[in-house]
Amino acid sequence: MSRSCLTTRPHLSGCAETKRTLARQLTLTSRAFYNDKLALFLKLICQVAGFEKALPMNTGSEAVETAIKVARKWGYLKKNIPENMGEIIVCYNNFHGRTVTIISFSTEDQYRFGFGPYTPGFRAIPFGDTRALEEAITPNTIGFLVEPIQGEGGVIVPPGGYLKEIREVTSRHNILLMLDEIQTGLGRTGEMFAFQHESIVPDILILGKALGGGVYPVSAVLADKEIMDVFNPGDHGSTFGGNPLAAAVGIASIEVLLEENLPQKAKELGNYFLEELKKLDSPYVKEVRGKGLLIGVEIKPEFGTARPFCEKLMPLGILCKETHEQTIRFAPPLIITKKELDWALEKIKTVLGEM
Ligand SMILES: *Cc1c(COP(=O)(O)O)cnc(C)c1O
Repeated sequence: MSRSCLTTRPHLSGCAETKRTLARQLTLTSRAFYNDKLALFLKLICQVAGFEKALPMNTGSEAVETAIKVARKWGYLKKNIPENMGEIIVCYNNFHGRTVTIISFSTEDQYRFGFGPYTPGFRAIPFGDTRALEEAITPNTIGFLVEPIQGEGGVIVPPGGYLKEIREVTSRHNILLMLDEIQTGLGRTGEMFAFQHESIVPDILILGKALGGGVYPVSAVLADKEIMDVFNPGDHGSTFGGNPLAAAVGIASIEVLLEENLPQKAKELGNYFLEELKKLDSPYVKEVRGKGLLIGVEIKPEFGTARPFCEKLMPLGILCKETHEQTIRFAPPLIITKKELDWALEKIKTVLGEM
């Protein structure tokens, strides 16, 4: 009965039998037990990213928290930093999420105000400044947590060579390079991971957002054994992290990225989109910048914020949101076609030309 329902009438969304059949699949098991999806997901993501271990969570913030926990424990166990003295260096204008610990090291008043007391153990330096990193390192420094491109901060692309330089400095001082690629990872910037633009490998990689394929919260932290194995069973956990449905979604997301060659597509279409946006030569625009399909258009302050521009684009069918007041961020789905980009460019042209 359920079988005929699936095969002969798959188009009938009202088919209760089909729904029941799908709903009968087990979607949540305790992580204390094996299931048939999680291991496949972890194997695939480790292969794609080039790490020995992965730890699945749900939201990006949780993955960042997990990375901070594993880094701190590594600092105390492996670097013998005196307990509770460890420090993690972060950047001004960072965005790593919204939990109390994460907003504790935000430099954005709105994200912090009213939510103290704050978690200690963080120190902020300017983004894109390798010398500032070198100068901030002390014997108690555990690691450097940074976005390869600051996304929420306004699509800020660091100077070329920055990733290579911070890799060199962090290695030389034996501190962990912790890359938050929740926004830049999984094809967005024209490589599977933004760190590949400069052929480096971080010590800890944090993924989220696209890992859930737009349907489900899936995040992960990746590292080699030397680091990840400071976690003992029971040190950390998550009820939903890595559940069978999340693992299946994660596998499907990565397979689509690979099979449809989406990083390469993001590179080609991103270059095209960026060049076309620059060509608009709008009097309102201070700068167009970005990598792959992560593009920011910064509005000159004398013309107000970016928000009215976003609001004008919305009824035309283009959803984008201002970041950091002045910047319109374009981050279209990686499956977008050139034809659709051309359609969007027409609309953007009218809005950036008319106000
Ligand atoms: C979105 C984002 C986060 C937070 O992810 P959530 O899933 O919203 O908790 C962290 N870091 C970066 C770089 C992000 O873009």
